[in-house]
Amino acid sequence: HAKSNGRGTVHLFDPALSEAARQRRVLEAELRTALAENQFELHYQPLVELGGQRTVGVEALLRWRHPERGLVSPVLFIPLAEEMGFIVPLGDWVIRQACRDAAKWPDHVVVAVNVSGIQLHQKGFAASVLAALREAGLAPGRLEVEITESVLIDESEASLDNLETLRAAGIRFAMDDFGTGYSSLSYLRRFPIDKIKIDRSFMKDAQTNADALAIIRAIAGLGASLGITTLVEGVETEEQLGIARAEGIDQVQGYLFSRPQPKAEIEGKLG
Ligand code: C2E
Ligand code: MG
Ligand code: MG
Ligand code: MG
Repeated sequence: HAKSNGRGTVHLFDPALSEAARQRRVLEAELRTALAENQFELHYQPLVELGGQRTVGVEALLRWRHPERGLVSPVLFIPLAEEMGFIVPLGDWVIRQACRDAAKWPDHVVVAVNVSGIQLHQKGFAASVLAALREAGLAPGRLEVEITESVLIDESEASLDNLETLRAAGIRFAMDDFGTGYSSLSYLRRFPIDKIKIDRSFMKDAQTNADALAIIRAIAGLGASLGITTLVEGVETEEQLGIARAEGIDQVQGYLFSRPQPKAEIEGKLG
């Protein structure tokens, strides 16, 4: 049912829509209390180097331990957190926690953190990351920042400043979900990226689709020529691991090695 408010704007009084809006407001309020009440936690998934099958790093993956709903996946709240701007304090918490955790791990273990474009656009972002490293006593070379291609599309002065400051400090950058966004190879020249993470959709199809395999092969070659580390996400089987090896991929990540696990469980495996 549509109704005019008298100023030419039409409002829809759809009970289903207002229910969605109500749920969204509830979730927004819950997200804010969640941070104050320590309901967020980081799980970690190994990044495995193919040469020696050694864990050279772990990716921090955010989880929300909701008092009633249990463990909530980031895909269910990160988009809303981004729309609310709440990703800024939340992302800050993630970086601080990841740095504190990694400071207790062996020196060869890098910690990779997902950073939203909204964080990178904030003027004080680089400074807050450097402060987190200092407070944790973690060497900048042990932090890897994962960004997606979309972050580089709407390049603002603030994000370029942040990228440059962090790079100059020795922090590494990985391009996440490579191949799914509006990939432009020119980004690889303008933004010195240390690692390309090939989206798991390519590995998922590699055994049945020649094009998916050809793309993995091409990116492996590109990485080798440019001196960029390549990683494939979503390695679930020995066959897929074999493909990664055959194509000369440097690192892999996936359920074959480990699902993301709470800190206590991952710590025993970082020797
Ligand atoms: P991502 O950064 O691409 O992270 C990899 C995702 O793939 C994770 O999902 C991981 O659990 C999943 N994965 C790993 N290996 C396999 C596999 O072998 N098979 C399959 N099917 N999946 C695998 P998760 O933890 O649900 O995270 C989803 C996304 O949420 C992440 O994708 C990332 O974009 C976002 N995210 C997670 N934590 C954060 C965070 O702290 N900040 C921000 N901004 N985004 C985050
Ligand atoms: Mg990631
Ligand atoms: Mg990824
Ligand atoms: Mg992904």
